[in-house]
Amino acid sequence: MNPEPNQRQCAACQELEPPFILTVIKGNLLRRLCPDCLLKEHRNLFCPVCLDVYATVPPPQASITCLRCSSTTHLNCAPPPSPSSSSSSSSSSSDGHLFTCPPCFDPNFSFFPKSLATSSTQNEAALGMEKAKALVAAAEIAVALAKNVAEKLEEEAVRKSIEAKDAKEKAKEALVYLEDVKDIASGKTNPRKRKADDRR
Ligand SMILES: [Zn+2]
Ligand SMILES: [Zn+2]
Ligand SMILES: [Zn+2]
Repeated sequence: MNPEPNQRQCAACQELEPPFILTVIKGNLLRRLCPDCLLKEHRNLFCPVCLDVYATVPPPQASITCLRCSSTTHLNCAPPPSPSSSSSSSSSSSDGHLFTCPPCFDPNFSFFPKSLATSSTQNEAALGMEKAKALVAAAEIAVALAKNVAEKLEEEAVRKSIEAKDAKEKAKEALVYLEDVKDIASGKTNPRKRKADDRR
């Protein structure tokens, strides 16, 4: 598993220096993605409106599926059927509710900016709550995927123990990263005290 030459580049959108980069493990594939691409590629794992990562997929009666992709949104997060179409409202009751998730609805939609506003007076502490939530969601998904792989590899075979260890290591890293991200999200301004090697 050789890391890509540029460790800060997003493997999906090719953005060279995204403000954050997360490592995602799938099978034997290790990719580095910016939060936006990570979320867009794992749309089935969270609600694209409130950005809650699903512990379990919500039941069909409590969620609505995007018309274009298969992502599910909490029923109460989805906007009500557009009032502008009231002319035809009589024809459809609740199950005629057609829903397109935000990224499908707007091709320019992004969960997280590819680069943070370069206004010189701001730094990463000025991350808006919504963006912070997107970042936490992305980090949580990275953790979940890494754990998943670690578990699978562990089950798979003892001879793969090195890879399993590697994946577990990644899961741990992702978890530490998630804590950092949560600190940022909760507005703790003191920069991370954590040193690269003090949680081994
Ligand atoms: Zn990207
Ligand atoms: Zn929701
Ligand atoms: Zn969609």
